[in-house]
Amino acid sequence: MQDLSTASRPDALPDTADPMFHAMQLEAETHEFYALELLDHLIHGVFPGRIALVSSFGAESAVLLDMVAQVNRHIPVIFLETGKHFTETLMYRDRLTSRLGLTDVRDITPEEDDLQASDSDGTLWRHSPDRCCHIRKVLPLERALEGFDAWITGRKRYQGGERARLPRVEAAEGRIKVNPLTDWSLREIRNVFKARDLPAHPLTKVGYPSIGCAPCTNPVISEEISRAGRWHGLGKTECGIHKPVPPTE
Ligand code: SF4
Repeated sequence: MQDLSTASRPDALPDTADPMFHAMQLEAETHEFYALELLDHLIHGVFPGRIALVSSFGAESAVLLDMVAQVNRHIPVIFLETGKHFTETLMYRDRLTSRLGLTDVRDITPEEDDLQASDSDGTLWRHSPDRCCHIRKVLPLERALEGFDAWITGRKRYQGGERARLPRVEAAEGRIKVNPLTDWSLREIRNVFKARDLPAHPLTKVGYPSIGCAPCTNPVISEEISRAGRWHGLGKTECGIHKPVPPTE
Protein backbone atom coordinates (compact mmCIF):
# COMPACT_ATOMS: atom_id res chain seq x y z
CA MET A 1 0.00 0.00 0.00
CA GLN A 2 1.39 3.44 -0.92
CA ASP A 3 1.61 6.21 1.69
CA LEU A 4 -1.33 8.61 1.31
CA SER A 5 -0.15 10.99 4.03
CA THR A 6 1.19 13.55 1.54
CA ALA A 7 -2.36 14.15 0.29
CA SER A 8 -3.20 16.11 3.45
CA ARG A 9 -0.05 18.28 3.50
CA PRO A 10 -0.80 21.74 2.07
CA ASP A 11 2.57 21.95 0.31
CA ALA A 12 2.20 18.58 -1.39
CA LEU A 13 1.01 18.43 -4.98
CA PRO A 14 -1.12 15.40 -5.88
CA ASP A 15 0.74 12.89 -8.00
CA THR A 16 -1.91 12.74 -10.70
CA ALA A 17 0.63 11.35 -13.17
CA ASP A 18 0.47 8.01 -11.37
CA PRO A 19 -3.04 6.59 -11.95
CA MET A 20 -2.73 4.14 -9.05
CA PHE A 21 -1.87 6.90 -6.60
CA HIS A 22 -4.44 9.27 -8.14
CA ALA A 23 -7.15 6.59 -7.78
CA MET A 24 -6.33 6.15 -4.09
CA GLN A 25 -6.41 9.91 -3.57
CA LEU A 26 -9.77 10.22 -5.29
CA GLU A 27 -11.19 7.29 -3.35
CA ALA A 28 -10.07 8.88 -0.07
CA GLU A 29 -11.42 12.33 -1.03
CA THR A 30 -14.79 11.12 -2.24
CA HIS A 31 -15.67 8.05 -0.22
CA GLU A 32 -18.55 9.86 1.50
CA PHE A 33 -19.96 11.32 -1.74
CA TYR A 34 -23.24 10.04 -3.09
CA ALA A 35 -23.06 8.78 -6.65
CA LEU A 36 -24.41 12.02 -8.14
CA GLU A 37 -21.95 14.12 -6.14
CA LEU A 38 -19.12 11.87 -7.21
CA LEU A 39 -20.07 12.20 -10.88
CA ASP A 40 -20.38 15.98 -10.63
CA HIS A 41 -17.01 16.24 -8.90
CA LEU A 42 -15.25 14.08 -11.50
CA ILE A 43 -16.98 15.41 -14.60
CA HIS A 44 -16.72 19.11 -13.77
CA GLY A 45 -13.95 19.33 -11.17
CA VAL A 46 -11.28 16.72 -11.81
CA PHE A 47 -11.57 15.61 -15.44
CA PRO A 48 -13.44 18.33 -17.38
CA GLY A 49 -13.54 17.26 -21.04
CA ARG A 50 -11.40 14.21 -20.24
CA ILE A 51 -13.91 11.65 -18.95
CA ALA A 52 -16.38 9.40 -20.79
CA LEU A 53 -19.12 6.99 -19.81
CA VAL A 54 -18.98 3.48 -21.30
CA SER A 55 -22.47 1.99 -21.49
CA SER A 56 -23.89 -1.25 -22.86
CA PHE A 57 -27.44 0.17 -22.81
CA GLY A 58 -28.31 -3.07 -21.04
CA ALA A 59 -30.79 -4.05 -18.35
CA GLU A 60 -29.65 -1.60 -15.64
CA SER A 61 -27.82 1.01 -17.72
CA ALA A 62 -30.58 3.62 -17.61
CA VAL A 63 -29.86 4.46 -13.96
CA LEU A 64 -26.28 5.59 -14.55
CA LEU A 65 -27.09 7.19 -17.91
CA ASP A 66 -29.83 9.21 -16.20
CA MET A 67 -27.45 10.31 -13.44
CA VAL A 68 -24.79 11.39 -15.90
CA ALA A 69 -27.40 13.25 -17.95
CA GLN A 70 -28.47 15.14 -14.82
CA VAL A 71 -24.88 16.22 -14.27
CA ASN A 72 -23.95 16.92 -17.90
CA ARG A 73 -25.91 15.54 -20.83
CA HIS A 74 -23.09 16.42 -23.24
CA ILE A 75 -20.60 13.97 -21.77
CA PRO A 76 -19.32 11.43 -24.35
CA VAL A 77 -21.11 8.07 -24.03
CA ILE A 78 -19.26 5.18 -25.64
CA PHE A 79 -21.40 2.30 -26.91
CA LEU A 80 -19.47 -0.69 -28.25
CA GLU A 81 -21.48 -1.51 -31.35
CA THR A 82 -20.14 -5.04 -31.81
CA GLY A 83 -22.49 -5.83 -34.68
CA LYS A 84 -23.95 -8.64 -32.54
CA HIS A 85 -26.46 -6.79 -30.37
CA PHE A 86 -30.14 -7.59 -30.11
CA THR A 87 -32.28 -5.26 -32.22
CA GLU A 88 -34.09 -4.44 -28.95
CA THR A 89 -30.84 -3.07 -27.49
CA LEU A 90 -30.24 -0.78 -30.46
CA MET A 91 -33.79 0.52 -30.26
CA TYR A 92 -33.46 0.99 -26.48
CA ARG A 93 -30.19 2.91 -27.00
CA ASP A 94 -32.01 5.32 -29.32
CA ARG A 95 -34.97 5.65 -26.99
CA LEU A 96 -32.85 6.38 -23.92
CA THR A 97 -30.60 8.78 -25.80
CA SER A 98 -33.61 10.80 -26.86
CA ARG A 99 -35.40 10.57 -23.51
CA LEU A 100 -32.34 11.70 -21.50
CA GLY A 101 -31.22 14.33 -24.01
CA LEU A 102 -27.75 12.85 -24.40
CA THR A 103 -25.93 14.69 -27.17
CA ASP A 104 -22.74 12.68 -27.67
CA VAL A 105 -23.50 8.95 -27.82
CA ARG A 106 -20.77 7.32 -29.90
CA ASP A 107 -21.23 3.98 -31.68
CA ILE A 108 -17.80 2.37 -31.66
CA THR A 109 -17.44 -0.43 -34.21
CA PRO A 110 -14.73 -3.07 -34.78
CA GLU A 111 -12.07 -2.48 -37.43
CA GLU A 112 -13.09 -3.99 -40.76
CA ASP A 113 -9.57 -5.41 -41.20
CA ASP A 114 -9.83 -7.26 -37.87
CA LEU A 115 -13.20 -8.71 -38.84
CA GLN A 116 -11.92 -9.83 -42.23
CA ALA A 117 -8.80 -11.38 -40.73
CA SER A 118 -10.42 -13.19 -37.78
CA ASP A 119 -14.19 -13.36 -38.18
CA SER A 120 -15.10 -13.13 -41.83
CA ASP A 121 -18.16 -15.36 -41.41
CA GLY A 122 -19.28 -13.84 -38.09
CA THR A 123 -19.11 -17.08 -36.09
CA LEU A 124 -15.91 -16.48 -34.11
CA TRP A 125 -17.96 -16.15 -30.91
CA ARG A 126 -18.87 -19.83 -31.22
CA HIS A 127 -15.37 -21.30 -31.00
CA SER A 128 -13.23 -18.42 -29.70
CA PRO A 129 -15.31 -15.96 -27.67
CA ASP A 130 -12.25 -14.35 -26.06
CA ARG A 131 -10.83 -13.52 -29.49
CA CYS A 132 -14.25 -12.32 -30.65
CA CYS A 133 -14.58 -9.98 -27.64
CA HIS A 134 -11.02 -8.80 -28.23
CA ILE A 135 -11.65 -7.58 -31.76
CA ARG A 136 -15.26 -6.47 -31.25
CA LYS A 137 -14.93 -4.87 -27.78
CA VAL A 138 -11.44 -4.60 -26.28
CA LEU A 139 -9.59 -3.08 -29.27
CA PRO A 140 -12.43 -0.70 -30.23
CA LEU A 141 -12.66 0.53 -26.63
CA GLU A 142 -8.92 1.15 -26.48
CA ARG A 143 -9.23 3.31 -29.59
CA ALA A 144 -12.35 5.10 -28.28
CA LEU A 145 -10.68 6.00 -24.97
CA GLU A 146 -7.68 7.68 -26.58
CA GLY A 147 -7.57 11.26 -25.29
CA PHE A 148 -9.55 10.47 -22.12
CA ASP A 149 -7.97 10.28 -18.68
CA ALA A 150 -10.92 8.59 -16.99
CA TRP A 151 -14.00 6.54 -17.73
CA ILE A 152 -17.16 5.62 -15.89
CA THR A 153 -18.72 2.16 -15.74
CA GLY A 154 -21.97 0.79 -14.32
CA ARG A 155 -20.57 -2.31 -12.63
CA LYS A 156 -21.92 -3.34 -9.24
CA ARG A 157 -20.62 -5.70 -6.55
CA TYR A 158 -23.88 -7.64 -6.36
CA GLN A 159 -23.27 -8.83 -9.93
CA GLY A 160 -20.79 -11.27 -8.36
CA GLY A 161 -17.63 -12.91 -9.67
CA GLU A 162 -14.68 -10.53 -9.98
CA ARG A 163 -17.10 -7.65 -9.40
CA ALA A 164 -17.72 -8.66 -5.78
CA ARG A 165 -14.53 -6.81 -4.74
CA LEU A 166 -14.95 -3.77 -6.94
CA PRO A 167 -13.75 -0.38 -5.58
CA ARG A 168 -15.52 2.87 -6.53
CA VAL A 169 -12.37 4.38 -7.99
CA GLU A 170 -9.57 2.30 -9.50
CA ALA A 171 -6.63 2.59 -11.88
CA ALA A 172 -6.72 0.57 -15.09
CA GLU A 173 -4.30 0.60 -18.04
CA GLY A 174 -3.03 4.11 -17.31
CA ARG A 175 -6.44 5.66 -16.67
CA ILE A 176 -8.83 6.22 -13.79
CA LYS A 177 -11.91 4.02 -13.87
CA VAL A 178 -14.92 5.04 -11.80
CA ASN A 179 -17.72 2.72 -10.70
CA PRO A 180 -20.23 5.06 -9.00
CA LEU A 181 -22.81 2.33 -8.34
CA THR A 182 -20.45 -0.33 -7.05
CA ASP A 183 -22.05 -0.56 -3.59
CA TRP A 184 -25.65 -0.26 -4.79
CA SER A 185 -28.14 -3.09 -4.38
CA LEU A 186 -30.54 -4.40 -7.00
CA ARG A 187 -33.36 -2.97 -4.89
CA GLU A 188 -31.83 0.53 -5.10
CA ILE A 189 -31.50 0.20 -8.87
CA ARG A 190 -35.18 -0.76 -9.12
CA ASN A 191 -36.19 2.10 -6.85
CA VAL A 192 -34.45 4.62 -9.12
CA PHE A 193 -36.09 3.13 -12.21
CA LYS A 194 -39.44 3.72 -10.51
CA ALA A 195 -38.69 7.12 -8.98
CA ARG A 196 -37.28 8.51 -12.23
CA ASP A 197 -39.83 6.72 -14.42
CA LEU A 198 -37.06 5.22 -16.53
CA PRO A 199 -38.01 2.90 -19.40
CA ALA A 200 -36.97 -0.74 -19.01
CA HIS A 201 -34.96 -2.63 -21.63
CA PRO A 202 -37.65 -4.71 -23.41
CA LEU A 203 -35.77 -7.99 -22.86
CA THR A 204 -35.91 -7.67 -19.06
CA LYS A 205 -39.59 -8.56 -19.31
CA VAL A 206 -38.81 -11.91 -20.93
CA GLY A 207 -36.17 -13.25 -18.54
CA TYR A 208 -32.97 -11.39 -19.40
CA PRO A 209 -31.60 -9.65 -16.26
CA SER A 210 -28.22 -9.02 -17.95
CA ILE A 211 -27.95 -8.23 -21.64
CA GLY A 212 -24.94 -8.27 -23.96
CA CYS A 213 -24.44 -9.55 -27.50
CA ALA A 214 -27.29 -11.74 -28.77
CA PRO A 215 -25.29 -14.94 -29.45
CA CYS A 216 -23.78 -14.87 -25.95
CA THR A 217 -26.81 -13.93 -23.85
CA ASN A 218 -29.45 -16.32 -22.55
CA PRO A 219 -32.43 -15.82 -20.26
CA VAL A 220 -31.96 -17.04 -16.69
CA ILE A 221 -34.32 -18.47 -14.09
CA SER A 222 -33.05 -16.68 -10.96
CA GLU A 223 -32.51 -12.91 -11.02
CA GLU A 224 -30.14 -13.24 -8.06
CA ILE A 225 -27.43 -14.50 -10.38
CA SER A 226 -28.01 -11.83 -12.97
CA ARG A 227 -24.96 -12.49 -15.16
CA ALA A 228 -25.48 -16.28 -15.28
CA GLY A 229 -26.98 -15.93 -18.75
CA ARG A 230 -23.84 -14.39 -20.23
CA TRP A 231 -21.57 -16.72 -22.26
CA HIS A 232 -23.56 -19.66 -20.87
CA GLY A 233 -21.56 -22.89 -21.19
CA LEU A 234 -18.51 -21.10 -22.64
CA GLY A 235 -16.51 -20.88 -19.35
CA LYS A 236 -16.36 -17.08 -19.58
CA THR A 237 -17.74 -14.35 -17.31
CA GLU A 238 -16.23 -11.08 -18.59
CA CYS A 239 -15.59 -9.75 -22.08
CA GLY A 240 -12.06 -8.53 -21.36
CA ILE A 241 -12.60 -4.76 -21.21
CA HIS A 242 -12.44 -5.08 -17.40
CA LYS A 243 -9.31 -6.74 -16.06
CA PRO A 244 -9.61 -8.78 -12.82
CA VAL A 245 -9.66 -6.79 -9.58
CA PRO A 246 -6.43 -7.56 -7.63
CA PRO A 247 -7.04 -9.43 -4.37
CA THR A 248 -6.77 -7.36 -1.18
CA GLU A 249 -4.16 -8.29 1.46
S1 SF4 B 1 -20.08 -11.05 -26.30
FE1 SF4 B 1 -20.06 -12.74 -27.80
S2 SF4 B 1 -20.61 -11.89 -29.81
FE2 SF4 B 1 -20.13 -10.18 -28.40
S3 SF4 B 1 -18.01 -9.71 -28.84
FE3 SF4 B 1 -18.00 -11.16 -27.11
S4 SF4 B 1 -17.91 -13.26 -27.97
FE4 SF4 B 1 -18.39 -11.79 -29.64
